[in-house]
Amino acid sequence: MGEHRFLCDEMYKGLARRLRAAGYDTTLAPDGFPDREVVARACAEGRWLVTRDAGIAEHAAAGPCLVLLEQERPEAAAAELAARLDLDWYHAPFSRCLVCNTPLERPPAAVAARAPVDVAGPLWWCPACDRLYWEGSHTRRMRRELEALHQRTAGDDRDGG
Ligand SMILES: [Zn+2]
Repeated sequence: MGEHRFLCDEMYKGLARRLRAAGYDTTLAPDGFPDREVVARACAEGRWLVTRDAGIAEHAAAGPCLVLLEQERPEAAAAELAARLDLDWYHAPFSRCLVCNTPLERPPAAVAARAPVDVAGPLWWCPACDRLYWEGSHTRRMRRELEALHQRTAGDDRDGG
């Protein structure tokens, strides 16, 4: 069973960040990339193309891999997307780099040594962009956002199916 993967339109950076926080493999369309290329990339990589640009939807090839949203704000768009695709905001929290989407690893000792001395708990490291993550104010905030999205999603009335 495959899991959802996403390619977010460049206007959905905030949504892409939340999807990565939840652990979903999520890339962003490069700024100024032609619609046709964005569609081709999403289909080739087996990703849902998430956009609110109806112009993209006009590309015939986009049909099977397109999710056209109405909401603009990240939280609202996330809730709308979750209602469409049955997302789990606790899928794999903080398993991916929020900035570049790379799966996180345990840091080598030399990298771990960069963490502030008062950090308790596990460290995670992005081998692609060299960011170090730990349980701090930032992850707490993202965790609260995921919890809010989870509750919002769970509370939605679904039509079944
Ligand atoms: Zn990274």
